[in-house]
Amino acid sequence: MTTAAAPSRARTQEHLTLVDRFSARNYAPLPVVVAHAEGCWVTDVDGKRYLDCLSAYSALNFGHRHPAIMSAVAEQCGRLTLTSRAFQNDQFGPFCEEICRLCGMDRVLPMNSGAEGVETALKTARKWGYKVKGVAADQAEIICCTNNFHGRTITVVSFSDDPQYRDGFGPFTPGFPLVPYGDAAALERAITPNTVGFLVEPIQGEGGIVVPPAGYLRRCRELCTKHRVLFIADEIQTGLARTGRMFACEHEGVKPDLLILGKALGGGVMPVSAVLGSNEVMGVFNPGDHGSTFGGNPLSCAVARAAMRTLTGERLAERAAAMGTYFVEKMRALRSAKVREIRGRGLLLGIEIGEEHGDAHHYCELLAERGVLCKETAKQVLRIAPPLIIDKDDLDFALERLAEVLM
Ligand SMILES: *Cc1c(COP(=O)(O)O)cnc(C)c1O
Repeated sequence: MTTAAAPSRARTQEHLTLVDRFSARNYAPLPVVVAHAEGCWVTDVDGKRYLDCLSAYSALNFGHRHPAIMSAVAEQCGRLTLTSRAFQNDQFGPFCEEICRLCGMDRVLPMNSGAEGVETALKTARKWGYKVKGVAADQAEIICCTNNFHGRTITVVSFSDDPQYRDGFGPFTPGFPLVPYGDAAALERAITPNTVGFLVEPIQGEGGIVVPPAGYLRRCRELCTKHRVLFIADEIQTGLARTGRMFACEHEGVKPDLLILGKALGGGVMPVSAVLGSNEVMGVFNPGDHGSTFGGNPLSCAVARAAMRTLTGERLAERAAAMGTYFVEKMRALRSAKVREIRGRGLLLGIEIGEEHGDAHHYCELLAERGVLCKETAKQVLRIAPPLIIDKDDLDFALERLAEVLM
């Protein structure tokens, strides 16, 4: 009798060697080299299959290679991919109308990465502060929250309180005081006549799936209105159906003054981000004030349009809510002693592991061996954020593996 040989990892190893030799070491990924993917499943270069429970941090809300999005890509690639904004293209106008209607906003400014979207919102708020609110030159302040994540540019890491995100990257951009996340009274104390904006994630994603206390967003909205401060919602990770509503601010009936979208807006294909607001706020821009070579390109617009049609056509917000409830009930029923808390909304879920049971990264490794891909957020939190198209059978697959490693 022969024992079954362990599956070969030869191709994986070749790729890991290349990356180790030639790539900057700014990530420490799990050693899984993906070659092919469809829906919620990916296959690595050695033929092993995994269920994707990260969805590229919500950029894959529709799953991998969603047919409606792929056909929009193919159609657009066969016609026109790039013009720059020096000329118009026939996808841009329809994209602008459709995204404004989806978000209930007057105007949109398209960019590419999420960090660019955040930078754009900050520039918008500052310009609004000077031109409309009447703040004295160079005095504008935008209040941000502790434990935030808004991207990696120098200005954006200027208001991070994670030392590693800032270490070695100064000098930083001034004008971004921090207040504790979840504390509306602290926000009110921090507002001054120079405050032009309040930047907030409705649920902190990278910070560890932190859901603020009930009523927090609504109270902050009231304070912003009262003091004439722009409420700037970073819904790059929480938006577009992830939390069981089209936008996470809707859970508290809040409408932001500036809305930042990214990740899923690109349909799992392209980096597409956007900032939306009212005529009064977005009206501060004149030609030449701000821009991007690739922002609003026809391929991005076509992909984003297909993504928006899929969101509404497949009722993905309702789906995320139903599947999230199902998952949390099953997870709670496990009664794992290693789990301190299960939290989140819709399919943006965090399982906090008790420190005495090791850090979350260890469990991500165990899950990957068993065919489930996920990634820790903060040190102790396993993030469960599969594509919103996931069904109960696939969730059960993940739950069975979670039970194995957490019991
Ligand atoms: C991912 C993320 C960003 C940054 O997006 P990039 O496309 O990586 O630049 C900003 N804000 C939030 C809340 C995010 O989750």
